[in-house]
Amino acid sequence: MRDSVFNCCFTPPHPSAAEVELPAHRHRRGNMAEAPLPNDRRFLIFFDFDETLVDETSDDMVVQAAPGGVLPGWLKDTYRPNHYNEYMQRVLAYLAEQGVSEATMRSIIEKIPACPGIPALLRFLQSRPPRDFEVVCVSDANTYFIESWLTRAGFRPLFLRVFTNPAQFDRDGQLQLRPYHSHECQRCPSNFCKAVVVREYITRRIRERGGRPFQRVFYVGDGANDFCPSLTLSPRDTVFPRRDFPMHRLIQEMAEAQPGKFRANVVTWASGEDVINTLRKVVEERG
Ligand SMILES: [Mg+2]
Ligand SMILES: [Zn+2]
Repeated sequence: MRDSVFNCCFTPPHPSAAEVELPAHRHRRGNMAEAPLPNDRRFLIFFDFDETLVDETSDDMVVQAAPGGVLPGWLKDTYRPNHYNEYMQRVLAYLAEQGVSEATMRSIIEKIPACPGIPALLRFLQSRPPRDFEVVCVSDANTYFIESWLTRAGFRPLFLRVFTNPAQFDRDGQLQLRPYHSHECQRCPSNFCKAVVVREYITRRIRERGGRPFQRVFYVGDGANDFCPSLTLSPRDTVFPRRDFPMHRLIQEMAEAQPGKFRANVVTWASGEDVINTLRKVVEERG
């Protein structure tokens, strides 16, 4: 539902954006991932979470914990286009009312299978010399689901930053979800425009690196909301849309309607091995 209700668009940079402390930082202070970032990496790679790292949509998976495994119609009827985050807040409140515990939810999330070839891809990134890849997750899921899954899968240390909606359990046992930010992109959901996150992140990192850009930027995703950030990348960069998923279709539509407008290289993937094959060539290039 999250990906199917909107199309993304490219908007001009947010004026004060680079100066704003990112919410994911604030809420995860003290986490080991908050150590200063190394400034010597050659490449930057972004990953979406749902249907990219994991082969499901995590929000849909936790609905399994509802009585009968389905949400009541009155609750589903409260969904409004572009306001998925508020809807998910109501779903999580409902699950808490029904007595669904943190342990139950965590165990559902931990069991979500990775996408084909994704563990191999993440192991490939781990196996490279430290100065190769800066790895970042950008997702409209939430901190609790992503941290739980990455930790269980053993890949949490690989991700230097995770940008997503903050979520934590309150004293009553309810997972409290909040929007990541607000933005002015007209077609992204009100709580999250990944293009803003990607653009601000790259700008800030180049500044922190003393003005030195990454040699190349990569973006691996699947959804309609991964199209918006892919528009911000340059002809040196590569976008990996999951084959026949919404991000791929949107790129194809733009290539037909406005040839040359989409600037980044495009390599589709059905398995993480497809991404590895491209990255292997890139890391062996000189420069
Ligand atoms: Mg996705
Ligand atoms: Zn957007």
